[in-house]
Amino acid sequence: MSDVRNVIIIGSGPAGYTAALYTARASLKPLVFEGAVTAGGALMNTTDVENFPGFRDGIMGPDLMDNMRAQAERFGAELVPDDVVAVDLSEEIKTVTDTAGNVHRAKAVIVSTGSQHRKLGLPREDELSGRGVSWCATCDGFFFKDQDIAVIGGGDTAMEEATFLSRFAKSVTVVHRRDTLRASKAMQDRAFADPKIKFVWDSEVAEVHGDNKLSGLTLRNVKTGETSELPVTGLFIAIGHDPRTELFKGQLNLDDEGYLKVDAPSTRTNLAGVFAAGDVVDHTYRQAITAAGTGCSAALDAERFLAALS
Ligand code: FAD
Repeated sequence: MSDVRNVIIIGSGPAGYTAALYTARASLKPLVFEGAVTAGGALMNTTDVENFPGFRDGIMGPDLMDNMRAQAERFGAELVPDDVVAVDLSEEIKTVTDTAGNVHRAKAVIVSTGSQHRKLGLPREDELSGRGVSWCATCDGFFFKDQDIAVIGGGDTAMEEATFLSRFAKSVTVVHRRDTLRASKAMQDRAFADPKIKFVWDSEVAEVHGDNKLSGLTLRNVKTGETSELPVTGLFIAIGHDPRTELFKGQLNLDDEGYLKVDAPSTRTNLAGVFAAGDVVDHTYRQAITAAGTGCSAALDAERFLAALS
């Protein structure tokens, strides 16, 4: 079976590249499917990353990912800028099919396909990402000291982001489509008690404004249709994430929200030889460093699994 690889890695964010680095250094010659459009993962869409250890002055997201990619390649990882469109993970030899229909075989597979944050679907949203528009208060809150910020959403994440941001911000306005929150009572109570947080009910964002930097929002009341302006320099969108697990449905166990289930603290899935790491597993931390950490764990788990086969 000379065409059978030791390991195939699906995904090229911090989890995938870290798994690639570790498996390459263990002489496992990993084949990495980076994705056709978004090689490098979520950090390709941001500007400064100030919380990845080792970069005292911070680093631009795309530069961090280029470095990770080059480091994995230096040790022999084979990187392919293509999507995986089908998998069969149930047998001892797993198969992975690319967009051209080529079938690749391996004894182990590491899944690190990440998760997609839900967007508002507004025209300027992507353009202003990293320029006032953010999906992660832990990542970007620090950049908004003494500024006016809006948080969109009504669930636990939105309340957590609003409460966290109120430490830095001059004001935080939570904009929610309904007139009640979905968040747990404890999270609601904390947000309601915070003098910096105010609420705009029954409203959605109709437009985002700003040239190269966010300057404000137009809000629309969903009941009356009335519009109003909200001058803010920060917009945190907290309306949920969709883990990229479509490919694995019916083969790997998923939780109620569609994230891959692993046998924590290991990265083992329900199928022998299949491991999962990064945001595709994690609905709690969702950071580059935690994704890289579990990418390392998945590589070590795969390495041990392969060693036990021989
Ligand atoms: P991702 O980075 O999402 O990578 C997943 C990869 O899998 C992508 O390359 C995708 O193309 C690929 N893929 C998916 N499906 C397939 C398929 N079928 N075939 C092949 N490839 C596939 N975190 C921080 O720690 N600090 C920050 O400052 C920070 N800023 C952020 C700013 C923004 C705008 C966003 C969106 C996130 C930010 N984060 C930050 C969070 C961080 O980016 C994520 O936690 C991290 O990237 C998750 O890594 P991952 O490897 O699990 O997945």
